[in-house]
Amino acid sequence: MNPEPRTSSRATLPTAVVSARGEQRLRGGHPWIYRSDVADVRAEGGDIVQVRSPRGQVVGSALFSDRSQITLRMLTHGEQPADAALVRQRLETSIAFRNSLGIDATAYRLVHGEADLLPSLIVDRYGDYLVVQALSQGMDRLLPSIVEALTDLLHPRGVLARNDPRARVLEGLEQRVDVLSGEVPETVTVTETGIEYDADLRRGQKTGLFLDQRENRAAAAAYARGRLLDCFSYNGGFALVMGRHCTETIAFDVSEEAVSRIRQNASRNGIAVDARAGNVFDELRGLDRLGERFDTIVLDPPAFAKNKAAIVNATAGYKEINLRALRLLKPGGTLVTCSCSYNINEAAFAGIVHEASVDAQAHVTVVEKRMQGRDHPVLLGVPETYYLKCFILRKVA
Ligand code: SAH
Repeated sequence: MNPEPRTSSRATLPTAVVSARGEQRLRGGHPWIYRSDVADVRAEGGDIVQVRSPRGQVVGSALFSDRSQITLRMLTHGEQPADAALVRQRLETSIAFRNSLGIDATAYRLVHGEADLLPSLIVDRYGDYLVVQALSQGMDRLLPSIVEALTDLLHPRGVLARNDPRARVLEGLEQRVDVLSGEVPETVTVTETGIEYDADLRRGQKTGLFLDQRENRAAAAAYARGRLLDCFSYNGGFALVMGRHCTETIAFDVSEEAVSRIRQNASRNGIAVDARAGNVFDELRGLDRLGERFDTIVLDPPAFAKNKAAIVNATAGYKEINLRALRLLKPGGTLVTCSCSYNINEAAFAGIVHEASVDAQAHVTVVEKRMQGRDHPVLLGVPETYYLKCFILRKVA
C-alpha cells in the first residue's frame, strides 16, 4: 500500500517525493502525479514544490494540492525553477502562438492549461475582456500575479474570474465569479466567422461561448446546404454559421434561455432560424415519425460521459442520436457529429458512429476527422487534453 502523503509545516523549501512509478510517469511527460504516487510531502496546499525522486534527485517543480487526487501538476522539469517570471513568460508564449494563428474571431482561448504548460489555468479572450479560470490550489494562489501579467501584456478593459467549475470543489476551493480588474459588462459582443454574438461571461456555459468549436463550425459550413437541423444548438453557433448556406434551418436546445438567445442572434445577423425548445432525443424520434428529412444535420451534445462510470450510458446515448440523425439524413447529406467526452476516445467514438450507421442501414463515409480548435491544442502523451472529436460524415446511400 502506498503511504498517504504527509503534510507537515512549511520547511525551508516545500518538497514532494514521488514514488518510482510516479517518477516513471513524469519522465514519460505526463504533468500529473496522483496521490498514490506521492511518497512524502513537506508543503502546504497551493505551494510550488520541488519534486524529488525516491533517491532524492531533483526532477522538477510542481503545483501541490493537499485535496485533489491530482496531487502534483508539473511546471518544470530538472533544475529549472518555477516562479512568477516563468509563468509570465509562458503567458507571453501562449498569447504569441494565438496571434500567429490568424483566428477569424474576436473571442478565442489564450491559455489552454496543460497544453500551454500552465496546468489548470484557462484564459479566454472576449474582445477587450478576459475570462480566467484557476482550477487548482496552486493556480488559485498564482492568480493575482497572472492577472497582473495579463493586464501588462494585453491591457484588457476588464478581467473576470469564472471560478465556478465543479473541479474547484475537488481542490477544496470556493466556486465563485469575481471581477478581478477593470469592469466587465453584462454581455460582450464578439464576432466569429462573420457572425455577431452576445456572450454572457458571468452566466454563460464554460466562459460564455463554446470557443472550441469555432473552426469546426467554419469547416462544416463548407458542406451546409438545403434543410439544416442543428441539435444541441446553445446560442446557435453551428446554425448561424451554416444557415447562411441553407434554405431552411431548425435548431433545438432543451434550454429556453438558449432558444431565446438563438432567436436574438439569428435576427441580429439577419439569418432565418426556426429555434425550438426540446429534448433532442424526443425531437429526433418525432421528426422521423413525421417523415421529415434533412440535407445537413449537426449533433453537438454536452459531454455524456463526464466520468468512467458514465461510459456505458453515454455510449448508448451517442449511438441513439447518431442512429436517429442518420435515418433523418437524405442520401448525399452531411452529418457533423461531435463528442466532447474525453472518457470516450476517438476510436471509441468512431466505433459508436459505425454501429449507428449499421443499425440505420446507411453507407457512410468519413469526409473529415476534426478536433477542438487550434487555440485549444492537444499535448502529446496527455489524452486528457484531447477531448473534442468532430467527424464530418457523408451518407452515401
Ligand atoms: N453547439 C453549441 C454547443 C452545444 S453545448 C455551440 O456550437 O456553441 C450543449 C447544449 O446542449 C447546451 O446548450 C444544452 O442546453 C443542450 N442540451 C443538453 N441536453 C439536451 C437535450 N437532451 N436536448 C436538447 N438540448 C440539450
